[in-house]
Amino acid sequence: MLDDRSKQEYYQALLEKNTKYEGVFFVGVKTTGVFCRPSCPARKPKFENCEFFETAQEALLASFRPCKRCCPLCHPYQASKLIETLVKAVEENPDKRWKDWDFEQISVDAKTARRQFKKRFGMTFVAYARARRIGIAMKLIRKGSSVIDAQISTGYESDSGFRDAFSRIMGSAPTKLGEGPVLKASWLDTPLGPMLAIGDDKALYLLEFVDRRGLEREIELLRKKTRSAIIPGSCDPILSIKQELNEYFQGKLQVFKTQISSLGTPFQKLVWEELKKIPFGKTRSYADIARFIGNPSAYRAVARANGANCLALIIPCHRVVNTDGELGGYGGGIARKKWLIAHEK
Ligand SMILES: [Zn+2]
Repeated sequence: MLDDRSKQEYYQALLEKNTKYEGVFFVGVKTTGVFCRPSCPARKPKFENCEFFETAQEALLASFRPCKRCCPLCHPYQASKLIETLVKAVEENPDKRWKDWDFEQISVDAKTARRQFKKRFGMTFVAYARARRIGIAMKLIRKGSSVIDAQISTGYESDSGFRDAFSRIMGSAPTKLGEGPVLKASWLDTPLGPMLAIGDDKALYLLEFVDRRGLEREIELLRKKTRSAIIPGSCDPILSIKQELNEYFQGKLQVFKTQISSLGTPFQKLVWEELKKIPFGKTRSYADIARFIGNPSAYRAVARANGANCLALIIPCHRVVNTDGELGGYGGGIARKKWLIAHEK
């Protein structure tokens, strides 16, 4: 997360429409739900209504949609028709999962779309559509449980794409509450970016960075295994992990005590138990873990089980590195893994 000084600096740049800050930050406007580039010609929001982001993806995941006036996803002063078309198509149908055929439908070449998006925003169009889709679902989660009552009385958000995007990811819409078990989901801000926490009154089931690769799939699996719908809200295990994360990032906590529940295969659980034994500040290799569980040749399966962990930080898969000392992969991104390992040392 940005510190207060950066926020003030960015706000100043925003007021000045300072073009030097193009690409340095984006601003989300809480009152309108759009995000802009620094030099947007629209009237400037009050400081308290601004949320600052260093990438467009973060703004999307925080549920903001691109401003139509300054087109933050277009190259400055050079709006691409193609990108405009695609962004519009996503807004019209935010829950769509894009396939090559869909591009043909709107007369766009999928490869060109991929290339242009990647070049300009560092993410492909499919990643954009996904970030927007997850962002929409996160909007409800960020607002918290109070929205549920409001949604029920007002018939949800006006556009159905919004509702579809939420229920596609989180399960049957909250209007059908009371029909089965539910899990609560909260948005937690951390110095390494926002995280999603999902749990019930007994345990925490998921803790992941919001931009984690494959997050949708993890949520889907969790819903299937627990046969639950997920609604915005909180519960004791979520409150507990929120507190513990604060302490962890302040360097005051080494072992998480929040009650967790891991829904995995017996092999995965074995690996995860072993991961929990890696002391704070230490790292192990995949081969080490394979040896500890008495199955030294299974290091590839260990790596896969490591990747399937959906309780980030609590089950410290970030402490597993390659045998050669290289960092190896991390679902939350290599930069975070590096940060975490350094932080714990
Ligand atoms: Zn704008």
